[in-house]
Amino acid sequence: QPWLKVEQLHVSVEGTEILKGVDLEVRGGEVHAIMGPNGTGKSTLASALMGHPKYEVTQGRAWLDGEDLLAMKVDERARKGLFLAMQYPSEVPGVSNANFLRLALNARRGEGNEIPVLRFHRELQKQMAALEMDPSFAERYLNEGFSGGEKKRNEILQMAMLKPRIAILDEIDSGLDIDALKIVAKGVNDLRGPELGVLIITHYQRLLQYIVPDRVHVMMQGRIVRSGGRELAEELEAKGYDWLKQELGIED
Ligand code: ADP
Ligand code: MG
Ligand code: MG
Repeated sequence: QPWLKVEQLHVSVEGTEILKGVDLEVRGGEVHAIMGPNGTGKSTLASALMGHPKYEVTQGRAWLDGEDLLAMKVDERARKGLFLAMQYPSEVPGVSNANFLRLALNARRGEGNEIPVLRFHRELQKQMAALEMDPSFAERYLNEGFSGGEKKRNEILQMAMLKPRIAILDEIDSGLDIDALKIVAKGVNDLRGPELGVLIITHYQRLLQYIVPDRVHVMMQGRIVRSGGRELAEELEAKGYDWLKQELGIED
């Protein structure tokens, strides 16, 4: 079963410490949400786990399926099944969405195990239909002229096609209207199961009404300051983040 474990992770950006000891464990079949005010380090955690060179891990450890994640190169992390929505380039001129996905999928499957072209296209059509995407999308250049909602849908399409073991979805709800949000949420819910662990990062509780998390964590000032069940998200929605700041004695 998929398993991501993070222990006392400290991360600096350009010499400033952003994450100050994050602990987290996500297993197959689970959906965890990380919530928190803007600028508290949620995206920094995602970038550091994906191995973005700007995010320097200064302390702590992380494992993917029991293997040392931080020792892996970026492409190795993706190959071993770690997925970050938005990790792929925003625009690739001259490369169609379908071709890009096929390259990414074959990189994940490994040499000698490439997916047959016809099977790939059948699978792509199926997943696009499920996400209510226009078939012409497959042949359009990656992200070129995609609207905000189309980009988000495309990120879920990438996830559906690549079948990661652990998926990190950072602000996949931002800029979506309610209909697009429901489609994106359904796309994620369809993929839920023992072979996938999901980490959802969001500022707002709204998304979590449609993707109901098993665990909710609140990040403030580079640490997870509280964890609970789905009711924690509802409590935050009702009372705001200031309530928790006060209770914890956190100053801005
Ligand atoms: P969140 O996702 O919770 O809104 P971020 O992780 O994006 O927070 O940012 C946390 C802090 O780290 C902010 O103060 C932000 O300015 C800083 N930071 C994050 N990424 C970078 C970067 N690439 N360069 C400079 N500062 C950064
Ligand atoms: Mg932010
Ligand atoms: Mg962010």
